[in-house]
Amino acid sequence: MAPEENSDNAQQEDRLADRRVRIFAIASRNYCSCLLLIVASATAWSQQAPASDVPANRALARLMEGNDRYAQAKEQHPDETLARRKELEGGQHPFAVILSCADSRVPPELIFDQGLGDLFVIRVAGNIVDDDVLGSIEYAVEHLQTKLILVLGHEKCGAVSAAVEGAKEPGHLQSLLSALQPSVEASRNLPGDKIHNCVLANARRVARQIRESEPILKGFGQKQGVEVVAADYALDSGKVTVLEEAHPHP
Ligand SMILES: [Zn+2]
Repeated sequence: MAPEENSDNAQQEDRLADRRVRIFAIASRNYCSCLLLIVASATAWSQQAPASDVPANRALARLMEGNDRYAQAKEQHPDETLARRKELEGGQHPFAVILSCADSRVPPELIFDQGLGDLFVIRVAGNIVDDDVLGSIEYAVEHLQTKLILVLGHEKCGAVSAAVEGAKEPGHLQSLLSALQPSVEASRNLPGDKIHNCVLANARRVARQIRESEPILKGFGQKQGVEVVAADYALDSGKVTVLEEAHPHP
C-alpha cells in the first residue's frame, strides 16, 4: 500500500474514533437526545466494552484522589492521549456516573481530574432528575455496569438560589424551579445559609430519588453493588465533600 494511502486510512480512522469518543464520552443533558438515539441502535449494544470491574468504594476513592489533585493544582490529566482515544473505540466502561449542575464552574472531568471514558456525566441545572436523566443513569448502570453514582451539588448554585428566593421565571425555567421546590421545603427551617442548606438538601434528596427509582435502579443496589452518594463542591477551595457514605439501596 502506498504511503499516501496509509496516511489517508490513518486519518480516516482518527476521524472515526474521534466521532465515537465524542458521542459516547460526553453524556451531558444537551447531548441526551443524541445519546438515546445511539442507545436505540442494536449495533451500539453489541459494541460495549466488557463490564467495569471497579466497585463503588474504589470508584469513590478514585474520584476523591482526583479531586485532591485538582484542589491542590497538581492535576495529572489522565486518559487524554491519542492512545486512550483509540482504546475507547471499541466501547466505554466509565467507573462512575456523575450527576452535576450545568454551572460552568463545576465541570466533573476537571474537578475530579479524570479523562476520556472515565466518567459518565449528566448535567442539568440544579442537578435534578427527571425521566430522561433517570434513563441515562439506568443506561450506565445496566449496560455499562458502572457501580457508583455521585450526585454533585455546589456552592452558590444559581438554580437553587432562584428556587429559594421564590423567583418566578418564564418558559421552561419555571418547571426547573418547581422541581427544586421539595428541597426548598426540606431545608426551609434549618439554621444558617438558606441557599447552601438547600444545595445540600437537594443533593441528598436527588440521591434518594435515584436509589428508590423503580423499576430499574431500586433493585441494582443489592443485586449489583451499585451505590448512590451525595456530595457538595466548594467553589473557593475546589474541594468536593461527600455528604453521606455510600448507601446501600433499600
Ligand atoms: Zn448550579
